[in-house]
Amino acid sequence: MKIAFYDTKPYDKIWFEPIAKEKGFDILFLEEKLNNKTAVFARGCDAVCIFVNDTADANTIAELSNVGVRAILLRCAGFNNVDLKKAKEQEITVLRVPSYSPRAIAEYALGLILAVNRKIHRAYVRTRDFNYSINGLMGCDLYGKTIGIVGTGKIGQAMMSVVRGLDMRVLLYDPYPLEDVIKKTPEAIERFGRNTTYVDLDTIFQESDVISLHCPLTKDNQHLINKETIAQMKDGVILVNTSRGALVNTQDLLVALADGKFGGVGLDVYEEEEAYFFEDRSDEIISDADLVRLTSYRNVILTSHQAFFTKEAMQAIAMTTLNNAEQFIQGQTCENIVLP
Ligand code: NAD
Repeated sequence: MKIAFYDTKPYDKIWFEPIAKEKGFDILFLEEKLNNKTAVFARGCDAVCIFVNDTADANTIAELSNVGVRAILLRCAGFNNVDLKKAKEQEITVLRVPSYSPRAIAEYALGLILAVNRKIHRAYVRTRDFNYSINGLMGCDLYGKTIGIVGTGKIGQAMMSVVRGLDMRVLLYDPYPLEDVIKKTPEAIERFGRNTTYVDLDTIFQESDVISLHCPLTKDNQHLINKETIAQMKDGVILVNTSRGALVNTQDLLVALADGKFGGVGLDVYEEEEAYFFEDRSDEIISDADLVRLTSYRNVILTSHQAFFTKEAMQAIAMTTLNNAEQFIQGQTCENIVLP
């Protein structure tokens, strides 16, 4: 099997190459992102392997089909960048890695919450400049405060577990709530503690001191965080987004940041991240004024989509992606197929 591997970084090679060798796969590592112009590079390959900022829209899929590609292997969980209907129409199978290390993302989200609350990012910069003043670095105890978790799938549940030690009141929202959490079964209490309650989204926005997003991006929840929902939030609220950038309306977030609404904002994802994230642009002028403005707020920590980036997650991503490829090429049924 030959696979064109788009948007390759050195760490991808480290984790994928040994497993590919073991399975006898031939991987063509490409630095380019997948789009309708670069799809042609996959000529002669059975599959393409893509990541979060590659584009597999209708035009790209048509090109992939023209050059003989029969499968799209997503080396991530989210699939909002793939036109699934078009893929089905062109008989291209789409496979993903539904779960690799939910804890990796949850632990990172917790890291962002703790850092923006206690201003650790600012303290780090100060002491490197031998400035030992703590003026302006005051945070608050999280103990006894309320956290709202939006989305209680694999990562949301990992988040519920990692925040247990903080003894916060935990509000949850998910259109498909977990029965055992609602019923407060002994197993659910053991895993998530007693302080967890499903509420509606308005209650999450109105009562949370910290809001963490863990839902996929869909047509229905694009710009879930917008001027109306921000207006419902408490002053000084902390918002963390490790899911997908477009869950947050950046323009509305910037207006609220300028108004001093937020105590802290931790973003691992950004609406227009494709053009910047994962690349070194330190020698260039950044033309995306919103990105520059976001980065300039001292109560904002913006990172480059790295919540997934642990050894355990990379190992699991590489293994599952290439197992998916193996099952596909052998014509076996695979539970990781994504359907429209
Ligand atoms: P999952 O499918 O296990 O769970 C998603 C949950 O969200 C489900 O319970 C679903 O019912 C719920 N949901 C759907 N629409 C919702 C809505 N409008 N409001 C609230 N909840 C809603 O997925 P997961 O593994 O927990 O991953 C969640 C998301 O995290 C992914 O879709 C991806 O966008 C993101 N992610 C980010 C990184 C990163 O490195 N930053 C890594 C992996 C995943």
